[in-house]
Amino acid sequence: MQHRIHAYFADKETQLIETVSRLVRIDSTIGEAQPGMPFGPGPAAALEEMLKLSAEWGLPGENLEGYVGTVDLNDQETALHILGHLDVVDGGEGWTVTQPFQPKLVDGLLYGRGTDDDKGPMVAALLAMKAVKDLGIPLKKNVRMILGTDEETGFRDIDWYFDRHSHAPYTISPDADFPIINIEKGHYQPTFSASWDQEAALPRVTSLTGGPRLNMVPPKANALVAGLTAEEIQSVIPTLGLEGITFTLTQQEDGVHILAVGQGAHGSTPQEGRNAQTALVALLAALPLADCPSTQTIRTLRDLFPHGDFTGQALGIAQSDELSGHLSLAFTRIDLNGTGFEGRFDSRTPLCANDENTRLVTEAAMGQFGWTVKGEIDPPHHVPADSPFIQTLAKCYEMYSGRKSECLCIGGGTYVHGIPGGVAFGASMPGFVSNLHGPDEKVNVADLLTAAKIFTQVIIELCA
Ligand SMILES: [Zn+2]
Repeated sequence: MQHRIHAYFADKETQLIETVSRLVRIDSTIGEAQPGMPFGPGPAAALEEMLKLSAEWGLPGENLEGYVGTVDLNDQETALHILGHLDVVDGGEGWTVTQPFQPKLVDGLLYGRGTDDDKGPMVAALLAMKAVKDLGIPLKKNVRMILGTDEETGFRDIDWYFDRHSHAPYTISPDADFPIINIEKGHYQPTFSASWDQEAALPRVTSLTGGPRLNMVPPKANALVAGLTAEEIQSVIPTLGLEGITFTLTQQEDGVHILAVGQGAHGSTPQEGRNAQTALVALLAALPLADCPSTQTIRTLRDLFPHGDFTGQALGIAQSDELSGHLSLAFTRIDLNGTGFEGRFDSRTPLCANDENTRLVTEAAMGQFGWTVKGEIDPPHHVPADSPFIQTLAKCYEMYSGRKSECLCIGGGTYVHGIPGGVAFGASMPGFVSNLHGPDEKVNVADLLTAAKIFTQVIIELCA
């Protein structure tokens, strides 16, 4: 069988490149809803193109009210769902090889928005379904590909689908990396706040704002301090030992404006960034300010979220387990003014985290200062590594990649989070940097062809 699959794909590289390029040329960024296009014309056009393509390949599919498309391999009972998406994040800036929606092949790498996330992998999976059909391999079960159109902006597509249709016994989502992601940590991202009477004391912080997004380490933060000079603030900075953070002080009519600049990173990997918000809080907390609610709050925030604490140590929720590693924490949102504040952190919780050792600890730590804390833990997703399904995926991966399989845990959440037995499986090979969501996103064509072979074998193993 392995020989037949290799032979089938021997002349498919051009077809793969041309097909992925067809989809990449469609800007499928989310847009305004229109009738039959819940996520706007871009995702709708990409979905139509993919369904047109699958029909050309002898696999007619269906458009389900513009939320998702489905492509079935046969009319038997469904054993396997392949879940991926055709929407993309916007093109962004900084492209050097080509423009985001003009796919270009250079040295075996196909560049363009969506080549890796997730149009390339979806085409590879569809090509695998076509291979099983063309090779005439008899199947006892069906494979259904589900083509999502809202992965980047909220999962409303598959939520809609699974509100109306059942899960399959097995689900893979080629929307990440090989080998196999069998654990996705939980999320705990509470909102905490307090309010007070309008302050008047000086010197004090009259405003503080941090990160733009809950799930991003803040690359910038801003504050306004009344009643101190820029020199007085400047003199404190060297005493703090904050590496990799730049502070810019500007004297304004209503006080000194402070801009802190660090480096952004995904909220699930806070150690990869330099958190401008925790750095700015550290600076403000060290200033000689009046004893008033905003000052007390800032000093408490510094104590609960010290700059450089990525694991919730100070808050008292640091923990880890063997399978899923340690809890990660990034203090990502703050908005403070003369009458109160609201903040949020982004924490990715290991399997061992629960209400008692995480939520209640946080609520107690903050409650003693009179803060209100709201938010529940969104549980982790876990498919045991020794299950027959995972073993099958591992075998197929090793057969065609020539690499050793292993199970991985990530802090991010994929389409399969919450789908019983679902795992993210491919399609980037370990170590390949696709730069998805950034400029010069790319896919390795040879690896994508290998992925198609792996998916072909998976379909045969699970459905024949
Ligand atoms: Zn994706």
